[in-house]
Amino acid sequence: MNTTNTKISIDNLSIYYGSFRALADVSMPIYEHQITAIIGPSGCGKSTLLRSINRMNDLVEGCRVEGRVILDDNDIYRSRVDAVRVRQQVGMVFQKPNPFPRSIYENVAFGARHHGIARGKQLDDWVEHCLRRVALWDEVKDKLMQSGAALSGGQQQRLCIARTIALEPDVILMDEPCAALDPIATAKIEELLQDLKNNYTIAIVTHNMQQAARISDYTAMMFMRPDRAGQLVEFTDTSTIFTQPKEQRTQDYISGRFG
Ligand code: ADP
Repeated sequence: MNTTNTKISIDNLSIYYGSFRALADVSMPIYEHQITAIIGPSGCGKSTLLRSINRMNDLVEGCRVEGRVILDDNDIYRSRVDAVRVRQQVGMVFQKPNPFPRSIYENVAFGARHHGIARGKQLDDWVEHCLRRVALWDEVKDKLMQSGAALSGGQQQRLCIARTIALEPDVILMDEPCAALDPIATAKIEELLQDLKNNYTIAIVTHNMQQAARISDYTAMMFMRPDRAGQLVEFTDTSTIFTQPKEQRTQDYISGRFG
């Protein structure tokens, strides 16, 4: 089915919020330089799964993780692993564009400076590089010192992606990155993702089945068990899951007949 390398191996992962089990025994690979879509009905644990891949759940009080997430042969949940370093290597983009309340320049420069990636003139070049990488440079080069919040929603989301890649991640996680955007801004992000996958490994949660079918190489289909714990029911290449799903409920979900 594939000849690509496994970048991340999710191994028997269960996640609890207090006594509630939100995710049950999920195992799947995330392949390098591919786009993996995570789909499924609301509440089935997609965001929980995504947030576990860069230890974002550490920030949620009462959240407990069992199992392993192996990134480049290292379990990111081992006690000696620095979660801040993990989040630099595995960046995240959220549903609602959330630029810092600072200038366009500073949105990209801040993290790069903080992590010692670039300084001085090099930092200017790095900011330009990152903004070019997300196809935003030409639109903002004359107003770099203006607030990031003044940009359109689609531009803000591209700025957030630029801010993420400014930290030189290997992996970018995206939680419904187009949900708040209009179709034109969405198309630009989708086009950008196709380009970014040459350099990065991407995992994306989406409610939009057409989007999953259009942009992803692999798809993880999740559902809720009767006890409401989320489980992975199918993982395969996207064309197979959309044309020959193993389960009727997957067929129903992707054709919009679910629930
Ligand atoms: P999805 O992304 O598929 O909509 P989530 O991962 O957001 O699902 O949520 C999965 C389950 O975990 C839901 O039942 C949700 O209510 C619960 N949940 C999510 N975040 C928290 C939290 N911080 N505290 C308690 N329960 C949570």
